[in-house]
Amino acid sequence: MPKFIFVVGGVMSGVGKGTASASIGKILQGKGFRVTAVKIDPYINIDAGTMNPVEHGEVFVTEDGDETDQDIGNYERFLNENIYSDNYMTTGRVYQTVIQKERNLEYGGRCVEVVPHVPEEVIRRIRRAGKIAKADFVIVEVGGTVGEYQNVLFLEAARMLHQRRPDDVLFVLVSYLPIPSKIGEMKTKPTQQAAQLLNAAGIQPDFILCRAEQPLDEPRKRKISIFCNVDKRDVISAPDIDTIYEVPLNFEKEQLGQRILSKFYMRARQKDLADWKKLIKTIKTAKGEVRVGIVGKYFTTGNFVLSDAYISVIEAIKHAAWAHNCKPVLTWLNSEEFEKDPSKLKDLKQLDGVIVPGGFGSRGVEGKIKAIQYCRENKIPYFGLCYGMQMAVVEFARNICGLADANTAEINPKTTNPIVHIMEEQGNLIKNKKYGGTMRLGAYPCILNKKSLSYKAYGQRNISERHRHRYEFNNAYREQFEKAGLVIAGTSPNNSLVEIIEIKDHPFFVGVQFHPEFKSRPLNPHPLFKEFISACLKSRK
Ligand code: GLN
Repeated sequence: MPKFIFVVGGVMSGVGKGTASASIGKILQGKGFRVTAVKIDPYINIDAGTMNPVEHGEVFVTEDGDETDQDIGNYERFLNENIYSDNYMTTGRVYQTVIQKERNLEYGGRCVEVVPHVPEEVIRRIRRAGKIAKADFVIVEVGGTVGEYQNVLFLEAARMLHQRRPDDVLFVLVSYLPIPSKIGEMKTKPTQQAAQLLNAAGIQPDFILCRAEQPLDEPRKRKISIFCNVDKRDVISAPDIDTIYEVPLNFEKEQLGQRILSKFYMRARQKDLADWKKLIKTIKTAKGEVRVGIVGKYFTTGNFVLSDAYISVIEAIKHAAWAHNCKPVLTWLNSEEFEKDPSKLKDLKQLDGVIVPGGFGSRGVEGKIKAIQYCRENKIPYFGLCYGMQMAVVEFARNICGLADANTAEINPKTTNPIVHIMEEQGNLIKNKKYGGTMRLGAYPCILNKKSLSYKAYGQRNISERHRHRYEFNNAYREQFEKAGLVIAGTSPNNSLVEIIEIKDHPFFVGVQFHPEFKSRPLNPHPLFKEFISACLKSRK
């Protein structure tokens, strides 16, 4: 039976519960335990796949093809392990199962009620995830903030599990302590109130992680300890730091791992986070710089700029840059700006390389194509991810092969040159409005062309990468494009789907139909990102 650590948020969202959960997992993993992490999202959606990335952030894709919250990506990056669909649940999923069970007469004729049947299903899922992963510890991150209507049933599940197994369950409250500029002092009251809200749900936090711009000082630690009924040693300072990967080490400064183990009457099996410490050292001492531009469109909400929609891409760039002992400098380029003012394209010259990440729909697409053309013509390293690959072949068709109306069928279904088209099966799904969870999702094998740059990067012919798309390169154009200089660098094993394209006589021009960013880890940077950064560094010189 594993131990369960529930991580809940107080005061406000966006304070780094995901990072905190992943970091707690990392610390325990470092002490020699098997750890897995579960994410609970309190909305009705069955998965994150149908949500707008500007509002919800990136849709992360697991090996087994689930479209999840970006926190699952955090867990994978910290734990350096694959996390599967079993570790992700939403209110929608839980209710769907309960209702299906009722239809199957699995409740034996009883009245099926919100409590206890819904929390029971939540508990069943958490336990199953622990069992499948053969985990010593299951970290369970409850989305949302305490006091919200939406996550009440999940807190109820946590309370019930604790009531049944008091020795196997701990609660961590990740709170936020504001420092209002006019007051100039860190305030603890919102955290006290968050703890009270948690108490009202029948839960006493064992730990409070105090997120703030600055470290927690002694008087405030004492105050939180007294008013929130938590041992002072378990009130943990969690100030802003430069890299999220340092969070586990920061928590360890306050002995968080040891404190958790002692509450479970357990002992560390090893004393080690050596590879992680080495990583942090590399991050901090990295010397050179590499400038990478990301041309996308999911940046702004109201007056605020967010980069959450591309988090795995950003992290993958960082991992690869660190592997080359340099610091990444990222620039956000809104593709729509290139449409309004093409003279801005020359700003791309300031960069060492450009990435066009995944995307959907027509907004900003022409700007992306212009940026890709500029990179191709000016020999700026270019890396296209999914939509970025599809746009690269459209650009190639238009400007090298002279097919002026070339397009993807996603944008212009009537084009006479659908360079990227939809597979029949996918087309039928759309016709029947079957949008949810029906893209080509998850890991698929790919065979590399031995004469490609990609092969050089991977150092092997057989690879497997994660996908999330409906459209594909149209094989009718394969021969013509190859003659014009396009390299088909990777295909599905039966050769029916083009998975990677490259362009010859260019320092780095690679487009991939998959999302390599999902498999990049700080301790295991992705080979294509590494090769891309290497080209960027060369072009910098
Ligand atoms: N919109 C494209 C497709 O569905 C690309 C998807 C993506 O970039 N993830 O095929």
